[in-house]
Amino acid sequence: MKSALTIAGFDPSGGAGIQADLKVFHSYGVYGLSVVSALTAQNSGGVRSVMPVSDHFVRRQLTVLLDDMKPDATKTGMLYSEAVVDAVAHVVKRYSLENFVIDPVILSSTGKHLAEKGVPDAIRKKLLPLCTVVTPNIYEASVLSGVHIQNMSDMEKAAVRISEYGAGNVIITGGHLDRIAMDVVYDVEFHYLKGRKIPGEFHGTGCAFSAAITALLAKGKGFLEAAELAKGFMKTAFKRSFRAGGVMKLFDL
Ligand code: PLP
Repeated sequence: MKSALTIAGFDPSGGAGIQADLKVFHSYGVYGLSVVSALTAQNSGGVRSVMPVSDHFVRRQLTVLLDDMKPDATKTGMLYSEAVVDAVAHVVKRYSLENFVIDPVILSSTGKHLAEKGVPDAIRKKLLPLCTVVTPNIYEASVLSGVHIQNMSDMEKAAVRISEYGAGNVIITGGHLDRIAMDVVYDVEFHYLKGRKIPGEFHGTGCAFSAAITALLAKGKGFLEAAELAKGFMKTAFKRSFRAGGVMKLFDL
């Protein structure tokens, strides 16, 4: 059985972070491993509080696990601190982790900071050079690239900039831009993943999309096929979304 590891935040509502990632891995028949990098208190209305896990303990969780098991793919989500980004970069190198996917979580859709100030820079310098693919949304891509994204051509410019930091492949998800949720994919050339924007507020979209790519890479798919299949996976997820609490919708993964 193939396995995938997520290094991410804990979400009691089950819609994002570790819980979402594990559900996605499971739905692909991939065995899920998880290392927690931050705890959150949240519900469908958003993240209220964050309790970071220390870099020492993140490193400990990783080394104890990886001394025994080697995941076929690994992804990161909410890392929260620069020290944790450092620890993850160190471990990815030391254990030569392959199929490494970065979801560069910075801000929740309800506006809560899920990363300290220095984290985008640390991701840029330490993690991007190690990754197979990075999956920023418009906001995250703007922060990582320094391009203020307002249209498709800005997305393309940002994707090239982010790849220049060493990211193997870049997918900027366009769901936050306009009615057509067009994702810009950049490897050595541009590809476009077209979708229709589904109205409403959804919790955990970025986590589910990046986890789907991670699971597909773990199963041996190539990057571009994984990206296309993950887009299809999200289309179904949007169709099967439901309202568990009062505000954002959740995915039945
Ligand atoms: N909580 C955790 C642990 C997350 O990783 C994320 C996003 O990555 C969120 C909350 C926010 O999710 P959303 O912005 O989709 O509501």
